[in-house]
Amino acid sequence: MTKDHILIVGAGLCGSLLALRLGQLGHKVTLAEKRPDLRLQPLDAGRSINLALSARGLKALSLAGLGKKVQALCIPMRGRMIHQQHSKSFFSPYSGRPDTAINSISRPGLNALLLDEIDKMANITVQFNLSCQSVALNDGTAVFYDHHGQEQVQLSGDILIGADGAGSKVRQSMFATPTMRFSFAQEWLSHGYKELEIPAGPKGDYLLDPDALHIWPRGKDMLIALPNLNGSFTVTLFMSYAEQPYGFDHLIQEADITEFFNTQYPDMLKLIPDLVDQYQKNPTGGLGTIRCSPWHCFDKTLIMGDAAHAIVPFYGQGMNASFEDVLVFDQVLAQNHNGWPERFTAFENLRKINTDAIADLALDNFHEMKEHTADPYFQQKRQLEVAFETELPELYASKYSLVTFHADIPYHTAMQRGRAQDKAILSLLREDKLPKEMALKERFNKVQERTNEILDQGLIK
Ligand SMILES: Cc1cc2nc3c(=O)[nH]c(=O)nc-3n(C[C@H](O)[C@H](O)[C@H](O)COP(=O)(O)OP(=O)(O)OC[C@H]3O[C@@H](n4cnc5c(N)ncnc54)[C@H](O)[C@@H]3O)c2cc1C
Repeated sequence: MTKDHILIVGAGLCGSLLALRLGQLGHKVTLAEKRPDLRLQPLDAGRSINLALSARGLKALSLAGLGKKVQALCIPMRGRMIHQQHSKSFFSPYSGRPDTAINSISRPGLNALLLDEIDKMANITVQFNLSCQSVALNDGTAVFYDHHGQEQVQLSGDILIGADGAGSKVRQSMFATPTMRFSFAQEWLSHGYKELEIPAGPKGDYLLDPDALHIWPRGKDMLIALPNLNGSFTVTLFMSYAEQPYGFDHLIQEADITEFFNTQYPDMLKLIPDLVDQYQKNPTGGLGTIRCSPWHCFDKTLIMGDAAHAIVPFYGQGMNASFEDVLVFDQVLAQNHNGWPERFTAFENLRKINTDAIADLALDNFHEMKEHTADPYFQQKRQLEVAFETELPELYASKYSLVTFHADIPYHTAMQRGRAQDKAILSLLREDKLPKEMALKERFNKVQERTNEILDQGLIK
């Protein structure tokens, strides 16, 4: 493969890992980022301060040799701590396997690590404060506004890759090119999100168990909390905009905010002393799914990460999927393709079916997390799946495990198998065909049989 000059727009999580990997493969890389260097200037408040990193993301980071360095930034979370409204909290492990966990990691911390690694590479140049305005798709050239020099700057490469996130300017240039026949769908969720912070205790201690991802499911809205290395937790409130009386559009005055938390999440009033202040100051963000195709244009331009497939955050997979893009792109580059157009096509063919699957799964999980985690059948299903994974670890993996812990199984396969298993277990539980007295292996056989029937009948999309 010839070593080309690659221009990447966006030095977020995907663009930075991509630049590092392409640099390691010997390409000359220019990385252009709209914001200032986040190592010198802190990230905007309220922009998902921490994220759940799991097997797919870790595999891609390990490809770039960062496995150990990233582990040092991680706080393992072994399951969900469900805080019910009217009864006791309970812990639900993510898997019956003792070594499985997802990891809470700081977004700026991880991004800074990637940028530090990039700084060590002589063949990668990073330029901050350059905001892409438009792209000439057929010649790998982009026009940027330089926030420092306050002037327009033009950069070009042999190819250009847009990793500029959900609001991608590179994608917008594709959309504005009729000859591309570019398909685009953006689906906003009724709910938005707001981040709050539970501070560390007086001795820097955690005020909640740091081994878990905490969830307060309340049907119409929910809170989640992930631990940070400094003893604090980042809390995210997911709530409808329009719902009366509790929606972001209506919950503005101090008395209403206090009443809302008092009714729905009274623990928060104790855990966050300046709750109302944080609520009023921190921004509210929208949540949406973006699907588009094709991801490449002429033989020069490609989009990747959220720019190509932004998803709602309820499976904790957006960053993981974006990192997995880099892994798959790396695999495509190792194959025997004739030039960039063939590589771009091969990448999209391998990837789109899987990013569509995780987009659907993330929407399913939105409903599961805010409603079903407190549902008795859902809890019975989880208990049974944990028992299967504990006692029969070679034979069973739940849908969540397939998606989160099995980086070798593509999202689409995980979705089909996982949905069939869910349907099988829930129907058998409702028919009372999995009584507790029945031997676990026998219950497992029944679930397998029903799962295979469902898959054979093509009942799963
Ligand atoms: C509330 C919330 C919680 C989330 N939690 C998780 C989670 O737990 N686990 C998980 O895996 N994922 C999670 N995600 C998803 C994750 O944040 C994204 O999937 C991930 O950040 C995508 O990376 P990216 O590099 O493609 O895009 P981004 O991270 O958005 O990076 C894009 C970069 O491009 C830059 N840029 C934008 N426009 C321009 C321009 N015009 N010119 C130059 N540069 C530009 C931006 O400044 C940014 O640095 C969450 C998302 C949200 C909103």
